Amino acid sequence: MRVGRSLPPAAAPIGLRQLAAGFGGMLRGRKALERFQAELRSDFGVKHCFLVNSGKAAFTLVLLALKDLSPGRDEVVIPAFTCYSVPSSVLRAGLKIRLCDLGQESLDLDFPKLSAMLSATDKALAVVATHLYGFPSDLPRVRQLVADGPVAIVEDAAQAMGETLAGRKLGTLGDVGFLSLGRGKAFSTVEGGVILTDRDDIAEALRTRLNEVPGYGTWALLGLITKTVALMTLIHPLLFWIARALPFLRLGETLFERNFPILRMSAFQAGLARNWGERLRGMQDARRANSMQWAAMLKDLGYGGAGSSRSRLPGLVRYPLRIRDADRRKALLRESAERGAGIAPAYPESINRLAELKGEIPAQVCPAAERCARELVTLPTHAYLARGDVAEIRRLLSRALAAESHSAAGSRAAVQGSETQSGVKPL
Ligand SMILES: *Cc1c(COP(=O)(O)O)cnc(C)c1O
Repeated sequence: MRVGRSLPPAAAPIGLRQLAAGFGGMLRGRKALERFQAELRSDFGVKHCFLVNSGKAAFTLVLLALKDLSPGRDEVVIPAFTCYSVPSSVLRAGLKIRLCDLGQESLDLDFPKLSAMLSATDKALAVVATHLYGFPSDLPRVRQLVADGPVAIVEDAAQAMGETLAGRKLGTLGDVGFLSLGRGKAFSTVEGGVILTDRDDIAEALRTRLNEVPGYGTWALLGLITKTVALMTLIHPLLFWIARALPFLRLGETLFERNFPILRMSAFQAGLARNWGERLRGMQDARRANSMQWAAMLKDLGYGGAGSSRSRLPGLVRYPLRIRDADRRKALLRESAERGAGIAPAYPESINRLAELKGEIPAQVCPAAERCARELVTLPTHAYLARGDVAEIRRLLSRALAAESHSAAGSRAAVQGSETQSGVKPL
């Protein structure tokens, strides 16, 4: 285990002032929650906003609400490469998982496959479009396939708070969207989830469901406060190696959990979110600048491809790239861990290969998603990234990529779809 400066793979730091605002929120109680809710509604320009304790709780409640509206439908189409809490929420809602592979060179859905899947069933309840790492999914294209029929588009904007597609906020482009305020996301209240929708019928169904959802109990709240204090200290690069060693923080694990709590957000979290708009913009500016820097560096190392000529990238929570050579990828991850460089694997398995889902979904292959699990690594983009880190990462990368320079064209994880994404091709 490394002792000493280590970059976290992603970070949305929480400061002392936020902690104080968190306690202030507890004192103001419901007012703090209503204020956060009103700010989100106005900033995102949506009619309805609901606050809960996590992204997975948000997604589960969304699915339950949709199920209440369309009781005859029980299939949820999700990407085969995504956060493990996405399939666990589908099961938690008592629904069936249908996996759609990713496009060959993208992190977005395989649209021809999605189209075929939707024509083959009349049980589809929802399609989940995910803005992985902050790259916008091609929602207009999903809309074309789904039309205004009975299938709802759920926008998984867990990693994309504050980003836009064609000038519209991510999270507001589907029938209903959700954000995560967990750690490792664009903006964090340690844990938290937000549901956004313009549809009155969905909002009504959500309200009914939420009536049965409890708030944090005393112990859960004390646990959350403890975790907040631990994380706000230990996310710093000088202390992050300690955080790694503390099992209760469960850093760096991608867990498949079925019995996660579903709670209403606490006023403490609403307080932690104080001044979120300004803070989020600051963090996204840093992430955007660092993402652009990685794109330029990769181009310089011979991996630019078509993409890095683009003048604008989203503020990615992590910058993904492919290392096709398995041995070099392993060596890169090992060296990064030894040096605390913050290069991390993406999800270790595609959803179709998750052991926990054996028996829940029919056996199937999802070649593009499996390739993402095998090849992707991510670079840190947060504001802790210092010049020395960049030099170190460049050194590690140039070695890992040396074998690939001849095949860069095939190794790009192009970003999905239309306008914002056109031409953005992180490797
Ligand atoms: C983190 C994440 C979620 C779940 O959010 P939690 O707040 O961790 O429950 C869902 N989808 C994606 C893509 C995520 O990254």
